[in-house]
Amino acid sequence: MKFRSTRAMAGDVSFKEAVFAGLAADGGLFHPTSIPALGQLIASFSPESRYTDIAKALTYHLLEPEISRESAARIIDNAYDFSPVLRPLDETLSLLELYHGPSYAFKDFGAFFLASCMVEFLAEDNRQAIILVATSGDTGSAVARAFYRKDNVQVVILYPSGRVSNLQEKQLTTLGENITALEVGGTFDDCQRMVKEAFTDPELNRALNLTSANSINLGRLVPQSYYYVYAYAQIRKQLKGDIYFCVPSGNFGNLTAGVYAWQWGLPARGFVASTNVNDVVPEYLKTGKFNPRPSIPTLSNAMDVGNPSNMERLQAVFGGGRKQMSSVLHGEVVTDRETLETIREIKDRFDLFVDPHTAVGYLGASRFRQKRGIRREDRIIVLATAHPAKFLETVKRATGMEPELPEGLREALSLPKKSIPVNGTLDDLKKFLLSRFSRS
Ligand SMILES: *Cc1c(COP(=O)(O)O)cnc(C)c1O
Repeated sequence: MKFRSTRAMAGDVSFKEAVFAGLAADGGLFHPTSIPALGQLIASFSPESRYTDIAKALTYHLLEPEISRESAARIIDNAYDFSPVLRPLDETLSLLELYHGPSYAFKDFGAFFLASCMVEFLAEDNRQAIILVATSGDTGSAVARAFYRKDNVQVVILYPSGRVSNLQEKQLTTLGENITALEVGGTFDDCQRMVKEAFTDPELNRALNLTSANSINLGRLVPQSYYYVYAYAQIRKQLKGDIYFCVPSGNFGNLTAGVYAWQWGLPARGFVASTNVNDVVPEYLKTGKFNPRPSIPTLSNAMDVGNPSNMERLQAVFGGGRKQMSSVLHGEVVTDRETLETIREIKDRFDLFVDPHTAVGYLGASRFRQKRGIRREDRIIVLATAHPAKFLETVKRATGMEPELPEGLREALSLPKKSIPVNGTLDDLKKFLLSRFSRS
């Protein structure tokens, strides 16, 4: 498979090139130039197939000959010691729990695969890299965990001081070793601007091999399609009707990965894009008008995105037509009040805690189920994107109870914070990077 920018027609690149570039030179996003037919492979998986076996087979078939069978196996074995868990709620709805990885959110699936690929490629070329990441909280901890103690990489994370939760800060700042946390006196936008400026600074780029690990990186997107296939394999034998996926969405990477799997041959009947009040995509699906705007803060804050970048990839898939897109995607919008009510309802009905993002997905799926006249034999799988303990305050507000903190989060909370304060300028970042990492 080759990849090209969503904006220009010229210049196909390899997977490796796309992974290290992050963004295309013209500002577009990389997406596949061809659609591999993997229907037979997908139909060969069963409920007994392990997640890592499915991931190895898909990686190889998607990326060969660039990636050999051995290399695909090594990448997956080094990436995943965790897997998704399918939890049936009733005869129609199931949760696909994607939060059993080290950072307790689904972003682990993308971040660990990307890290594993970069480590594999750097070793092949005998090179080293510095990964620069700006985070508003969640992405940073998945990336930090993914690269922790890996060879040939140093990770530098920029986060806005005082603007991430205590738990998020501990997850970013307690690892140490090859992970450095820079505590920026400024906002998340300042962090992002500094990282962007660093990538275009000639002096820095002469001295250091800088690379990114943004959520738009193809190396994070591709592996997110694997758990859709895994969920289908789990229920395939008992499935008599249609299967739908409901994806709580913000930047729409997760949903785009599902749509890729569908293009490759996953027999999904459709997808529900469930958002909070940052609803530009549901609005587009209804009206055909795409109207990006500043984001509004909500309880499901990892989905507070006013201009979702993966819309470009979705439009590339559906040829820019609302009609084609809305024949496969259905939008639902959930308010904060409804999110709280849903967290309470799920606790009452199923004795289960869910985080606010998963609640947005669940309510979207429930509405879709009624509107669409879903039949007894159909199944809807809701992606559960974060562990409820990561959003303790909101869950407590909704239910009056607290979910138990998993071991890994308790441990992070007990360790001392180690961060280096910098002001919100490129100069400060540059000084730090050159004094710490340049060899001359
Ligand atoms: C990032 C995130 C989302 C949104 O995923 P996108 O791929 O940006 O649509 C949903 N839930 C949680 C917990 C997240 O961290």
